[in-house]
Amino acid sequence: MDIVKAIAAARGAGRNALDEETGKRLLASSGIVVPKSVVVSGVEKVEAAVAGLRFPVVAKVMSAEILHKSDAGGVKVNLDSLAAVREAVAAMAEAPGIKGRNVDGYLVEEMAPAGQEIVIGMFRDPQFGPLIMVGLGGIFVEVLADVAFRICPITEQDAAGMLDELRGIKLLDGARGRAPVSREAIVDVLLKLGGKDGLLMALPEDVAEVDVNPLIVSKDAAVAVDARFVLAPAGAEAVQQRTTKAGDAAKRFERLFAPRTVAVVGASATGVTMANTFIGRMKRFGYDGAIYPIHPSAQIVDGLPAYPSLAETPKPVDYCYIAVGAARVPEILENAQGRVAFAQVISSGFGEVSHGVGLERALLAAAEKGGCRILGPNCLGLYSPRGKVTFPETAPAEVGPVGVISQSGGLGTDIVTRGDRRGIRFSGLVTVGNSADLGPSDMLEFYLADPLTKVVGMYVEGVPDGRRFFDLLRANAAKKPVVILKGGRTQKGQAAAASHTGALAGDDRVWVALSHQTGCVLADTLDDFLDALLAFQTLTMRMGKATKQVALFGNGGGTSVLATDFFYRHGLDIDPFDKETQNGLDALKLPPGTSIANPVDAPVGTLQQEEGRIAEKILDVIYSHAKPDAVVMHLNLAAFVGRGTIDPLDNLITAAVRMQEKFPGQAHFLLVLRSSGSPDVEAGKQRYRERAMSVGIPVYDELSNAAIALSAVSRFEGFRAGR
Ligand code: ADP
Ligand code: MG
Repeated sequence: MDIVKAIAAARGAGRNALDEETGKRLLASSGIVVPKSVVVSGVEKVEAAVAGLRFPVVAKVMSAEILHKSDAGGVKVNLDSLAAVREAVAAMAEAPGIKGRNVDGYLVEEMAPAGQEIVIGMFRDPQFGPLIMVGLGGIFVEVLADVAFRICPITEQDAAGMLDELRGIKLLDGARGRAPVSREAIVDVLLKLGGKDGLLMALPEDVAEVDVNPLIVSKDAAVAVDARFVLAPAGAEAVQQRTTKAGDAAKRFERLFAPRTVAVVGASATGVTMANTFIGRMKRFGYDGAIYPIHPSAQIVDGLPAYPSLAETPKPVDYCYIAVGAARVPEILENAQGRVAFAQVISSGFGEVSHGVGLERALLAAAEKGGCRILGPNCLGLYSPRGKVTFPETAPAEVGPVGVISQSGGLGTDIVTRGDRRGIRFSGLVTVGNSADLGPSDMLEFYLADPLTKVVGMYVEGVPDGRRFFDLLRANAAKKPVVILKGGRTQKGQAAAASHTGALAGDDRVWVALSHQTGCVLADTLDDFLDALLAFQTLTMRMGKATKQVALFGNGGGTSVLATDFFYRHGLDIDPFDKETQNGLDALKLPPGTSIANPVDAPVGTLQQEEGRIAEKILDVIYSHAKPDAVVMHLNLAAFVGRGTIDPLDNLITAAVRMQEKFPGQAHFLLVLRSSGSPDVEAGKQRYRERAMSVGIPVYDELSNAAIALSAVSRFEGFRAGR
């Protein structure tokens, strides 16, 4: 059927949705089963019309003014004779919720075979385009919001995963005496709607929401008995999606991440501005390329020869740092004459404030004219150790494997400084601010292609080109772990939504969907984010299988008990060791008070035996017999530091290193160094942290941090293994 014509007809009649009959014909055109039906104008037409239908049938009112037909008394089911249909139609016409409304007619349709009611819907996300939703009907959707979303197009695996995500899924399989229903039939409908060649991908943008409520699923069939296609308000602007630029992304951004010529706009010849500070930092950080201060009149700025415009520098500019009043920026860029590759606009006062929206447009136009790409505006800068560029004062000089994108400048600084303390090393960190031109997707594309980057971390509040973002992550196919710290994830609900699906499609849902579909890991807090990045930086991801079994080993009984609960809650098991392992540990004749089940709880006295070398024997038994996927060793430092002359920590770390050498690739090893917070313990902790990091062991503050990091690893491995 011609959907464009159907939409035009509905709009022409002043409607904001397609009528049910048209909606069902659309579904049918995609191969979805709908009941055989006829539309009648009134009681007198019933007899001729229902001749071709098989009883029992259902009669429903059709009216653009009635949203929920049942609530208005406009649905009568189980009509088993012509007389019953007549009676139903006559009664409906007189029902209080219907009488006096504009009625198009009555839909008479065959009853679907009895089964479980499922709701399927579509909501057009402003960033990601069509999302598909599935949930169990009735209270499951309406009260419990037990639904799963995915970004279209979905694969068969996505569709099956959506069903697994539902809390009420057991009902489909026959729990509580229900007849089991066909999961395959639901997956089939999900694909016919949300798959690559499905209806949703083909729908014009002005269909904003779809509700199929319900789809009745039995043992072997699925029938869509209600369909609602909601139109976007007329004249609504389609979201402009930017397209991927062709070519090698690693090459495209080389001049940004390793610039040989840096221009600085906004440095003063007499005072100290942000730009002067930037020049100072670059010099201290060891940048050895050319720095060109741009100044309208001065000859020398910060001891460097200055130039009046970007067009007059000795060599073309790879990276230009701009921190002057917002109003001056467009003109400066317009005069660049194609000699600037990348300009990072630090200045604020653009699209982030209502009066700056026009200026941001002018900025973009000027950059295009001047031939350069823009980062920002309203950001803090770039940290790229490979190019010796930095904006935070204290940033590690070494190049590492973690590439970060941050939509917030302040948080970007935190990520570098706090990450540094944890031992995270970066391949780069770029703050993208308002993302007027280059945004999170461009930088993601770079890091995914960049050979130095092994892990990507992103702080994002929104992506202007969600579809491209999604495609990039999908194409990555979990080759590189991507950790996303999403700002603004709380469920706001869509106040204006006209369907169930729309009302349930809060901002959080699409990110959860993204994570399910691409294997990216979502972090809730800055700490979780950094802890996960550290794990991905240091640990070697396991192929073909997700980390599940964990052995805990350390001092502190209550601590182990609490940790066990926490690990379980994050999908990791700390199961008691088998007999063989326990016998092996028994044979070590550990002092009384040592618990050997898993968690292995060893008092300080035990750990100090043989100056800590006892740990190696314990670990050896665990690695040889129990063979867990991960070992987490936790030490309460206050019990060691300053207690006696024996400091066994070095030996404990050495034991861990030796195990990793003896059983390569067998288990992830994480160390938790718990501090009391007192200055001497803190100092000791930092020393041990560095020692552990130097041999590739990630160190965490608490067991809960280690659990969250390990569950991120497990999720990533599980996604990759399931592909
Ligand atoms: P509304 O959602 O507008 O109230 P529906 O068309 O969804 O109206 O019908 C209400 C309920 O009636 C459905 O949830 C379903 O339980 C039942 N129903 C409607 N049509 C059929 C049908 N063809 N076969 C079986 N049950 C039906
Ligand atoms: Mg309905």
